[in-house]
Amino acid sequence: MMGAPPLLLGVDLGGTNCRMALVEPEGQTFQEERMPTEASSGRTVFLQRVEGLCHEMIRRAGEMDRAVVAIGVGAPGVISADGVIEISPNLPQLNGLSFAEHLQAVLNLPALVMNDANAIAVGEAQLGAGRQFSSSLTMTLGTGVGGGLVLNGRLWEGADGAAGEVGHIMVEPEGRPCGCGSRGCLEQYSSATGLVLNALEAIDRGVPSRFSSAEISQLTSQNVAAAARQGDAAALAAFAEGGRRLGQALAAVANLLNIDGVIITGGASASLDLMRPSLDAELKIRGFAIPVRRLTIVQGILQDQAGMIGAARMAWDRLLHSGNAGGI
Ligand SMILES: [Zn+2]
Repeated sequence: MMGAPPLLLGVDLGGTNCRMALVEPEGQTFQEERMPTEASSGRTVFLQRVEGLCHEMIRRAGEMDRAVVAIGVGAPGVISADGVIEISPNLPQLNGLSFAEHLQAVLNLPALVMNDANAIAVGEAQLGAGRQFSSSLTMTLGTGVGGGLVLNGRLWEGADGAAGEVGHIMVEPEGRPCGCGSRGCLEQYSSATGLVLNALEAIDRGVPSRFSSAEISQLTSQNVAAAARQGDAAALAAFAEGGRRLGQALAAVANLLNIDGVIITGGASASLDLMRPSLDAELKIRGFAIPVRRLTIVQGILQDQAGMIGAARMAWDRLLHSGNAGGI
């Protein structure tokens, strides 16, 4: 055991799946595991299952003569600085749960719980596509649009941990209703869900499409992307719309923050190229020349591991090396 470097446990808690991995302090992951989150079966059962897998991961580290020294969790929703899940629209069963305190007591390890989009942003900024940027926004285009801001190498969570909600920048004042209570939010147009809505709207407008009515009733963003790549006009219009809205929101971001880069991750980021022409055009029209020239837009490179890596790194920096120079 002597000299064996410590390990972290990184957890990415999603609405559907919970991922875990052992993480080296430098960010490499191994022994990755995934289980269904199943929060609907109730908080007690959920906690038992998560704890069970945590214990198993710690046991595996022990078998390798490695000690897990902290756990970092990325969870959906607004998370307070002391790791309470204040409001989680995707996992309402966990609202009000003192998750960090609970894990710390059960696992007897320092525990950090943070917003999942912020964890992804830290992962990509420190070890992924954002290493080249000192200030960046990481956007996750999935069911919704998540965002995390790193400014001058430090995560910007805001006064209440609620910052970075780029998905709810308004791009259409009287637009589609959003789950947040507003209308015309970016995520209604540029998330995987929004892209499907764009396609349906284009078909309704009479834009030609090869989709049969049976296909239309169960369209996914992957179907729409595949059709766009085969030249389907409605599918191409859906991505053009998604890109245009993304460009509008990023023009506001560029003008407000003059950051170096934007990192696009999540399921729909595989289709970023389909959105690029309209995104770039819109950005140019609406943004100021200097911040737009500065802004580099790239795809994330850590895929599903970004959140686990970011949460683990954050636990390492904040719980074990608080006050470290230059860390996030
Ligand atoms: Zn919204």
